Amino acid sequence: TSQRASEGKINDELTDVVKVLNRMMDRLQGLISAQQQFVSDVSHELRTPVTIVKGHMELLNRWGKDDPEVLADSISSSLAEVQRMETLINEMLNLTRAEQIPVENIKDMTEVDGTVHRVFENFKMIHPDFNFTMDDDLLEPAHARIRQDHLEQILIILADNAVKYSLDRKEIHFAVSRTRHQVEIGIQDFGEGLSQEDAQHVFDRFYRADKARSRRKGGSGLGLSIAERLVKAYGGDINLESAEGSGSIFTIRLPLVSE
Ligand code: ADP
Repeated sequence: TSQRASEGKINDELTDVVKVLNRMMDRLQGLISAQQQFVSDVSHELRTPVTIVKGHMELLNRWGKDDPEVLADSISSSLAEVQRMETLINEMLNLTRAEQIPVENIKDMTEVDGTVHRVFENFKMIHPDFNFTMDDDLLEPAHARIRQDHLEQILIILADNAVKYSLDRKEIHFAVSRTRHQVEIGIQDFGEGLSQEDAQHVFDRFYRADKARSRRKGGSGLGLSIAERLVKAYGGDINLESAEGSGSIFTIRLPLVSE
Protein backbone atom coordinates (compact mmCIF):
# COMPACT_ATOMS: atom_id res chain seq x y z
CA THR A 1 0.00 0.00 0.00
CA SER A 2 2.85 2.38 0.73
CA GLN A 3 4.16 1.69 -2.76
CA ARG A 4 0.76 2.52 -4.21
CA ALA A 5 0.64 5.70 -2.14
CA SER A 6 4.00 6.84 -3.42
CA GLU A 7 2.99 6.00 -7.02
CA GLY A 8 -0.09 8.14 -6.51
CA LYS A 9 2.08 10.94 -5.24
CA ILE A 10 4.37 10.71 -8.25
CA ASN A 11 1.34 10.77 -10.54
CA ASP A 12 0.04 13.91 -8.81
CA GLU A 13 3.42 15.54 -9.17
CA LEU A 14 3.60 14.60 -12.83
CA THR A 15 0.13 16.04 -13.38
CA ASP A 16 1.30 19.26 -11.77
CA VAL A 17 4.40 19.40 -13.94
CA VAL A 18 2.31 18.84 -17.06
CA LYS A 19 -0.04 21.62 -15.96
CA VAL A 20 2.87 24.02 -15.50
CA LEU A 21 4.33 23.04 -18.88
CA ASN A 22 0.98 23.60 -20.55
CA ARG A 23 0.69 27.00 -19.00
CA MET A 24 4.20 27.86 -20.19
CA MET A 25 3.35 26.72 -23.70
CA ASP A 26 0.24 28.90 -23.69
CA ARG A 27 2.26 31.87 -22.56
CA LEU A 28 4.91 31.24 -25.17
CA GLN A 29 2.25 30.93 -27.85
CA GLY A 30 0.77 34.23 -26.69
CA LEU A 31 4.16 35.92 -26.84
CA ILE A 32 4.85 34.59 -30.31
CA SER A 33 1.55 35.80 -31.69
CA ALA A 34 1.98 39.20 -29.99
CA GLN A 35 5.37 39.41 -31.68
CA GLN A 36 3.90 38.47 -35.06
CA GLN A 37 1.15 41.01 -34.58
CA PHE A 38 3.71 43.69 -33.78
CA VAL A 39 5.79 42.93 -36.88
CA SER A 40 2.65 42.99 -38.99
CA ASP A 41 1.49 46.33 -37.47
CA VAL A 42 4.90 47.92 -37.95
CA SER A 43 5.10 46.76 -41.58
CA HIS A 44 1.67 48.15 -42.21
CA GLU A 45 2.54 51.53 -40.67
CA LEU A 46 5.79 51.80 -42.62
CA ARG A 47 4.26 50.74 -45.89
CA THR A 48 2.17 53.89 -46.29
CA PRO A 49 5.06 56.39 -46.20
CA VAL A 50 7.24 54.10 -48.31
CA THR A 51 4.50 53.84 -50.94
CA ILE A 52 4.06 57.61 -51.00
CA VAL A 53 7.79 58.30 -51.35
CA LYS A 54 8.07 55.64 -54.05
CA GLY A 55 5.18 57.22 -55.95
CA HIS A 56 6.91 60.60 -55.92
CA MET A 57 10.21 59.12 -57.04
CA GLU A 58 8.54 57.34 -59.94
CA LEU A 59 6.75 60.52 -60.93
CA LEU A 60 10.00 62.48 -60.89
CA ASN A 61 11.82 59.75 -62.72
CA ARG A 62 9.32 59.75 -65.54
CA TRP A 63 8.72 63.41 -66.23
CA GLY A 64 8.72 65.59 -63.13
CA LYS A 65 12.42 66.45 -63.09
CA ASP A 66 11.98 69.23 -65.60
CA ASP A 67 8.96 70.79 -63.94
CA PRO A 68 10.17 72.88 -60.98
CA GLU A 69 6.73 72.89 -59.38
CA VAL A 70 6.34 69.10 -59.46
CA LEU A 71 9.92 68.75 -58.30
CA ALA A 72 9.46 71.05 -55.30
CA ASP A 73 6.16 69.44 -54.34
CA SER A 74 7.52 65.89 -54.59
CA ILE A 75 10.58 66.71 -52.55
CA SER A 76 8.65 68.37 -49.73
CA SER A 77 6.02 65.59 -49.63
CA SER A 78 8.72 62.92 -49.62
CA LEU A 79 10.60 64.70 -46.88
CA ALA A 80 7.46 64.83 -44.72
CA GLU A 81 6.97 61.07 -45.17
CA VAL A 82 10.61 60.33 -44.37
CA GLN A 83 10.25 62.42 -41.22
CA ARG A 84 7.17 60.43 -40.30
CA MET A 85 9.13 57.21 -40.68
CA GLU A 86 11.88 58.61 -38.51
CA THR A 87 9.40 59.53 -35.77
CA LEU A 88 7.79 56.12 -35.99
CA ILE A 89 11.12 54.33 -35.67
CA ASN A 90 12.13 56.47 -32.70
CA GLU A 91 8.80 55.80 -31.02
CA MET A 92 9.13 52.06 -31.60
CA LEU A 93 12.53 52.18 -29.94
CA ASN A 94 10.97 54.06 -27.02
CA LEU A 95 8.28 51.43 -26.73
CA THR A 96 10.80 48.59 -26.71
CA ARG A 97 12.84 50.36 -24.05
CA ALA A 98 9.73 50.96 -21.95
CA GLU A 99 9.06 47.23 -22.08
CA GLN A 100 12.51 46.46 -20.77
CA ILE A 101 12.45 48.35 -17.47
CA PRO A 102 13.03 45.84 -14.69
CA VAL A 103 10.29 46.29 -12.13
CA GLU A 104 12.05 44.59 -9.24
CA ASN A 105 14.80 47.03 -8.44
CA ILE A 106 13.71 50.51 -9.26
CA LYS A 107 15.90 52.86 -7.30
CA ASP A 108 14.97 55.95 -9.23
CA MET A 109 13.05 58.68 -7.57
CA THR A 110 11.85 61.96 -8.92
CA GLU A 111 10.55 65.02 -7.18
CA VAL A 112 7.10 65.30 -8.69
CA ASP A 113 6.19 68.96 -8.35
CA GLY A 114 9.27 70.37 -10.07
CA THR A 115 8.89 67.98 -12.98
CA VAL A 116 5.19 68.67 -13.52
CA HIS A 117 5.75 72.43 -13.32
CA ARG A 118 8.61 72.26 -15.80
CA VAL A 119 6.48 70.43 -18.37
CA PHE A 120 3.59 72.80 -17.64
CA GLU A 121 5.74 75.92 -18.19
CA ASN A 122 7.23 74.49 -21.37
CA PHE A 123 3.81 73.82 -22.83
CA LYS A 124 2.65 77.30 -21.88
CA MET A 125 5.60 78.70 -23.76
CA ILE A 126 5.23 76.52 -26.86
CA HIS A 127 1.46 77.03 -27.11
CA PRO A 128 0.74 80.67 -26.29
CA ASP A 129 -2.72 80.35 -27.86
CA PHE A 130 -3.76 77.89 -25.12
CA ASN A 131 -4.90 78.63 -21.61
CA PHE A 132 -3.07 76.29 -19.21
CA THR A 133 -4.19 76.03 -15.58
CA MET A 134 -3.04 73.91 -12.68
CA ASP A 135 -4.44 72.67 -9.37
CA ASP A 136 -1.55 71.64 -7.22
CA ASP A 137 -2.45 70.00 -3.91
CA LEU A 138 1.06 68.86 -3.00
CA LEU A 139 2.03 70.71 0.13
CA GLU A 140 5.46 69.19 0.57
CA PRO A 141 7.94 67.65 -1.82
CA ALA A 142 6.87 64.16 -2.88
CA HIS A 143 9.16 61.68 -4.59
CA ALA A 144 7.75 59.18 -7.07
CA ARG A 145 9.47 55.92 -7.92
CA ILE A 146 10.30 56.71 -11.50
CA ARG A 147 13.17 58.01 -13.57
CA GLN A 148 12.73 61.71 -14.18
CA ASP A 149 13.02 61.60 -17.97
CA HIS A 150 10.38 58.87 -18.02
CA LEU A 151 7.94 60.92 -15.95
CA GLU A 152 8.59 63.84 -18.29
CA GLN A 153 8.05 61.67 -21.33
CA ILE A 154 4.67 60.47 -20.01
CA LEU A 155 3.51 64.00 -19.21
CA ILE A 156 4.65 65.27 -22.60
CA ILE A 157 2.74 62.51 -24.41
CA LEU A 158 -0.45 63.36 -22.49
CA ALA A 159 -0.11 67.13 -22.81
CA ASP A 160 0.79 66.84 -26.50
CA ASN A 161 -2.37 64.84 -27.12
CA ALA A 162 -4.44 67.30 -25.10
CA VAL A 163 -3.23 70.06 -27.41
CA LYS A 164 -3.59 67.98 -30.58
CA TYR A 165 -7.14 66.89 -29.86
CA SER A 166 -8.49 70.16 -28.51
CA LEU A 167 -10.91 71.88 -30.81
CA ASP A 168 -12.01 75.50 -30.40
CA ARG A 169 -11.83 75.53 -26.64
CA LYS A 170 -8.09 75.82 -26.13
CA GLU A 171 -7.91 75.05 -22.43
CA ILE A 172 -5.80 72.47 -20.67
CA HIS A 173 -5.94 71.73 -17.01
CA PHE A 174 -3.32 69.95 -14.90
CA ALA A 175 -4.14 68.52 -11.46
CA VAL A 176 -1.62 67.12 -8.99
CA SER A 177 -2.51 65.46 -5.71
CA ARG A 178 -1.46 62.57 -3.52
CA THR A 179 -2.69 59.88 -1.24
CA ARG A 180 -0.51 58.23 1.37
CA HIS A 181 1.35 56.03 -1.08
CA GLN A 182 0.62 57.43 -4.51
CA VAL A 183 0.84 60.62 -6.48
CA GLU A 184 -1.88 61.39 -8.98
CA ILE A 185 -1.39 63.63 -12.02
CA GLY A 186 -4.29 64.46 -14.32
CA ILE A 187 -4.25 66.26 -17.65
CA GLN A 188 -7.60 67.42 -18.94
CA ASP A 189 -8.70 68.88 -22.24
CA PHE A 190 -12.08 70.09 -23.48
CA GLY A 191 -11.66 68.88 -27.02
CA GLU A 192 -13.06 66.16 -29.18
CA GLY A 193 -13.09 63.43 -26.54
CA LEU A 194 -13.46 59.73 -27.27
CA SER A 195 -16.36 57.37 -27.74
CA GLN A 196 -16.63 54.48 -25.27
CA GLU A 197 -15.54 52.10 -27.99
CA ASP A 198 -12.43 54.14 -28.86
CA ALA A 199 -11.62 54.74 -25.20
CA GLN A 200 -11.19 50.99 -24.77
CA HIS A 201 -8.48 50.86 -27.42
CA VAL A 202 -6.48 54.07 -27.16
CA PHE A 203 -3.70 52.35 -25.21
CA ASP A 204 -3.29 49.69 -27.92
CA ARG A 205 -0.27 50.01 -30.16
CA PHE A 206 -0.98 51.91 -33.38
CA TYR A 207 -4.61 52.56 -32.46
CA ARG A 208 -5.97 55.88 -33.70
CA ALA A 209 -9.56 56.87 -33.13
CA ASP A 210 -9.68 58.99 -36.27
CA LYS A 211 -6.98 57.59 -38.50
CA ALA A 212 -6.92 60.30 -41.14
CA ARG A 213 -7.02 63.17 -38.71
CA SER A 214 -4.47 61.70 -36.33
CA ARG A 215 -2.12 60.97 -39.21
CA ARG A 216 -2.42 64.55 -40.45
CA LYS A 217 -1.47 65.74 -37.00
CA GLY A 218 1.68 63.64 -37.13
CA GLY A 219 0.25 60.93 -34.88
CA SER A 220 1.71 57.44 -34.97
CA GLY A 221 -0.71 55.80 -32.56
CA LEU A 222 2.16 54.82 -30.28
CA GLY A 223 2.25 57.67 -27.75
CA LEU A 224 -0.31 56.32 -25.31
CA SER A 225 1.01 52.76 -25.49
CA ILE A 226 4.45 54.09 -24.57
CA ALA A 227 2.93 56.10 -21.70
CA GLU A 228 1.03 53.06 -20.45
CA ARG A 229 4.06 50.74 -20.64
CA LEU A 230 6.16 53.25 -18.74
CA VAL A 231 3.59 53.85 -16.00
CA LYS A 232 3.02 50.11 -15.55
CA ALA A 233 6.73 49.33 -15.55
CA TYR A 234 7.00 51.55 -12.47
CA GLY A 235 4.08 49.89 -10.74
CA GLY A 236 1.60 52.67 -11.49
CA ASP A 237 -1.51 52.93 -13.59
CA ILE A 238 -3.09 55.20 -16.14
CA ASN A 239 -6.74 55.76 -16.84
CA LEU A 240 -9.04 57.77 -18.98
CA GLU A 241 -12.36 59.48 -18.46
CA SER A 242 -13.79 60.82 -21.65
CA ALA A 243 -17.00 61.83 -23.32
CA GLU A 244 -17.30 62.30 -27.03
CA GLY A 245 -17.46 65.98 -27.85
CA SER A 246 -16.65 67.32 -24.40
CA GLY A 247 -13.06 66.32 -23.73
CA SER A 248 -10.88 63.86 -21.87
CA ILE A 249 -8.99 63.48 -18.62
CA PHE A 250 -5.97 61.19 -18.58
CA THR A 251 -4.80 60.40 -15.06
CA ILE A 252 -1.65 58.63 -13.99
CA ARG A 253 -0.91 57.25 -10.55
CA LEU A 254 2.60 56.39 -9.42
CA PRO A 255 3.94 54.91 -6.21
CA LEU A 256 5.63 57.36 -3.87
CA VAL A 257 8.86 56.70 -2.05
CA SER A 258 7.77 56.27 1.54
CA GLU A 259 9.19 58.79 3.96
P1 ADP B 1 -1.25 59.53 -31.72
O1 ADP B 1 0.20 59.62 -32.05
O2 ADP B 1 -2.11 59.14 -32.89
O3 ADP B 1 -1.77 60.73 -30.99
P2 ADP B 1 -1.60 58.08 -29.22
O4 ADP B 1 -1.25 56.69 -28.86
O5 ADP B 1 -0.96 59.16 -28.42
O6 ADP B 1 -1.30 58.25 -30.77
O7 ADP B 1 -3.17 58.22 -29.15
C1 ADP B 1 -3.97 57.24 -29.78
C2 ADP B 1 -5.29 57.83 -30.26
O8 ADP B 1 -6.08 58.20 -29.13
C3 ADP B 1 -5.13 59.12 -31.06
O9 ADP B 1 -4.92 58.86 -32.42
C4 ADP B 1 -6.45 59.81 -30.82
O10 ADP B 1 -7.43 59.30 -31.71
C5 ADP B 1 -6.83 59.35 -29.41
N1 ADP B 1 -6.49 60.37 -28.38
C6 ADP B 1 -5.38 60.43 -27.62
N2 ADP B 1 -5.42 61.46 -26.76
C7 ADP B 1 -6.62 62.08 -26.95
C8 ADP B 1 -7.28 63.22 -26.37
N3 ADP B 1 -6.71 63.94 -25.39
N4 ADP B 1 -8.51 63.52 -26.84
C9 ADP B 1 -9.10 62.81 -27.82
N5 ADP B 1 -8.53 61.74 -28.42
C10 ADP B 1 -7.30 61.37 -27.99
